[in-house]
Amino acid sequence: MKKIAVLGSTGSIGTQTLEVAEQNQDMEITALAAGSNIRLLEQQIRKFRPRLAAVWSEEKARELKAAVADLDVRVESGMDGLIAAATESSAQIVVTAVVGMIGIRPTIAAIQAGKDIALANKETLVTAGHLIIPMVKEKGVRLLPVDSEHSAIFQCLNGERGNRISKILLTASGGPFRGRTKEQMKDIRVEDALKHPNWSMGQKITIDSSTMVNKGLEVMEAKWLFGVEMDQVQVVVQPQSVIHSMVEFEDGAVMAQLGTPDMKLPIQYALCYPERRPMAGERLDFWKLKEIRFEEPDFENFPGLSLAYKAGKTGGSLPTVFNAANERAVSMFLNRKIGYLTIAEIIESAMARHKVIPDPTVDQILEAERETYDYIESRW
Ligand code: NDP
Ligand code: MG
Repeated sequence: MKKIAVLGSTGSIGTQTLEVAEQNQDMEITALAAGSNIRLLEQQIRKFRPRLAAVWSEEKARELKAAVADLDVRVESGMDGLIAAATESSAQIVVTAVVGMIGIRPTIAAIQAGKDIALANKETLVTAGHLIIPMVKEKGVRLLPVDSEHSAIFQCLNGERGNRISKILLTASGGPFRGRTKEQMKDIRVEDALKHPNWSMGQKITIDSSTMVNKGLEVMEAKWLFGVEMDQVQVVVQPQSVIHSMVEFEDGAVMAQLGTPDMKLPIQYALCYPERRPMAGERLDFWKLKEIRFEEPDFENFPGLSLAYKAGKTGGSLPTVFNAANERAVSMFLNRKIGYLTIAEIIESAMARHKVIPDPTVDQILEAERETYDYIESRW
């Protein structure tokens, strides 16, 4: 039996992970964690019978506890609950599918407890990659990418042991506003930005995809996962999302992974690695597809991407500021407190005033996050 803990089980990646688990007879769910959606969490508990369930809010945890009193499941709350779910003794692999930097402590706790990690929560690697990568090596656990681009790169590297990567070609759909100028984007509303052309995802990552901040986070994620420099990661816009990413080797050969856009593939691949298992779903039809188009990214009208390169190259605590400023700005945009273009302005301004700490500890990362939030609150 593959014993799996899912952090963020009620979200887009979390629910798809549970669908994968349902389709594989040998997968057992041992722990679930969510923010506040206890209605869905209760259904998941009844179906998958984990030993432990964690809810962020204490009040909701109490409500859930009463609702599942007939079952043999422990209910915990807050950061302690999230860490308990990440370290629950029977799980072998933890799917980190919470959204945002909240994932740092539970991911570290899971690694320390010797669990393999199926990583969806890119914000954790972006902000704490310099701590997590050495820890993964020290503990001898696996860090398996769930993000579709990184799973593609990981698949391209299969059987390439020892062969050095010359360049990673990270593909991007360009989002719903590809081709627009800043002037044409200034009145974008929340509902417009929540429509992604190819993928159906959680709200935060959908906004991040539209601003290209998601691609920026992914460049930094690739740097940590595959041990390359920022300049070795080239973003290639490929609007159909057919090629999920590519790797160029030193002899000029390029390997690519292609497929229809379905997150269940990278999720199942991470859970079953190195095995490939059958999966239902649409297949690529190259006769119908006819062509695959490529474009350069538009750094000028989508400054989130250039700011990410700056943050990733500088390193230290700057990626944390980039990420924290984006998390707060996106939440303000979703709550209709700021305009669309202000998201990138906030990130830029927060980065400009920050004094970079090289090699920050977890506490310093969380302090830089706090300071960034305070700064944004004082100005917007
Ligand atoms: P969603 O917003 O759909 O889901 C987020 C999940 O995190 C929910 O289960 C939510 O619970 C839970 N959560 C939020 N805050 C807390 C908290 N404080 N404590 C415990 N749980 C919490 O996000 P996605 O699934 O889209 O994304 C998850 C991660 O995966 C992100 O880092 C994203 O960048 C990454 N990712 C997502 C992809 C996708 O296709 N969706 C693709 C590649 C990467 P609740 O529902 O109760 O609020
Ligand atoms: Mg991705």
